[in-house]
Amino acid sequence: MTRKLLAAEIIAVGSELLEGGRVETNSAFLAGRLTSVGTRVRRKWVVGDDLHDIARAVRTALQDGCDILLLSGGLGPTNDDLTRQAVAQALDRPLHTVPQLVERLQRLYARFNVRMSENNLRQAQVVEGGEALENPKGSAPGMFLRQGDALIFLLPGPPRELEPMVDEEVLPRVRDLKPAAPLYRRSLKILGLPESTVDAKVEEAYRSFTDIETTILSSSGIISLHFTWRGEDDRGLANQALDQLAQRARQALGEAVYADREAEPEEILGEMLRSRGQSLVTAESCTGGWMGQLITAVAGSSDYYLGGYIAYSNALKVDALGVNETTLQRFGAVSRQVAEQMAQGARLRGKSDYALSTTGIAGPEGGSEEKPVGTVWVALASREGVESKRLSLPGDREWIRLRSARLALDLLRRRLL
Ligand code: ATP
Ligand code: MG
Repeated sequence: MTRKLLAAEIIAVGSELLEGGRVETNSAFLAGRLTSVGTRVRRKWVVGDDLHDIARAVRTALQDGCDILLLSGGLGPTNDDLTRQAVAQALDRPLHTVPQLVERLQRLYARFNVRMSENNLRQAQVVEGGEALENPKGSAPGMFLRQGDALIFLLPGPPRELEPMVDEEVLPRVRDLKPAAPLYRRSLKILGLPESTVDAKVEEAYRSFTDIETTILSSSGIISLHFTWRGEDDRGLANQALDQLAQRARQALGEAVYADREAEPEEILGEMLRSRGQSLVTAESCTGGWMGQLITAVAGSSDYYLGGYIAYSNALKVDALGVNETTLQRFGAVSRQVAEQMAQGARLRGKSDYALSTTGIAGPEGGSEEKPVGTVWVALASREGVESKRLSLPGDREWIRLRSARLALDLLRRRLL
């Protein structure tokens, strides 16, 4: 069986939505619900109470092959409620008055003791071949019809009326149309490269896969690369193409890829340490405990994390970690030598396999020409010795501190690869 994801379009009707008087929210609600049942919303329209405009949107959506068309608003009794008429016109079908719907309205109005005007009878009209949808919260019934393979739904504008009808009347019919399309997808998580670099490195690869949609998201310095299959529903074809693309992207990005699933870098580092039965201690200056916070946010981190030192002052760097006073004086606290001594001292005193350290200038003050704000040294001590790296980070204080913590931890992840 071959099949594409169902394509949906939404038409929100109402001049008030175009005049700034009312925020258009129905389409966001509808899109959320449709997406949850494996449908892809590919276009939204907002049109005024204009017969011609509504009809044109309906025709265009259907001509462009949409599978599900949802209209909201314009089903009421007043002269500017034109959605039924516009759909009838677009489909070139007549409108019929349905006696049961007339009775329903009469009952409703009798209950509220109001005289039913002629106008109200519009709400008893259904496009030929269509079916009225029960609206328990209001007077205007909805409507459901088919045109070719497409499903068309007309729903009342007030959100409190529309929302329950979506769950009761729309989603069951959409689900029946075809089984929910499975989502074929691959994700890569990346640390240590800017978003633009990631994009530049993988662009050539994803451009050659026209049936795969690529999205890049960045959050707290972590880049998520998602590849989603948009072609025919053929499991073999989809998996093969996705694996190929993911493989090429991995090659292009190298060690910066830390996971091929949704995971924080600290989880991955934790798994690596646990499987090796190795332990870690931290020694933090500019990050003030942030490394420890990231590590211990992962449940079960006590398996490999022994703890950490927050040695902010020079004096504590000397006393708690055994950093050499002359080294501090000669090179300053933010230096390769001090970072390395911090890591080595933490490893020896903490009796761990590895120790990571950070020392830097997070700003806003304290920078100099030689060591501007954002200069951070990170070091990794192990049985084999010590390695270190100078970072030059942009951004404000919080950003520099978080990035330093993450990149220091990443030093160990790359070592364990
Ligand atoms: P009614 O029987 O109440 O007239 P209707 O189907 O004719 O229902 P409209 O007249 O288009 O619906 O809209 C009624 C009210 O519902 C609008 O005044 C507006 O407050 C709200 N509404 C309509 N469409 C939307 C939308 N897309 N997003 C948010 N609110 C909407
Ligand atoms: Mg109305």
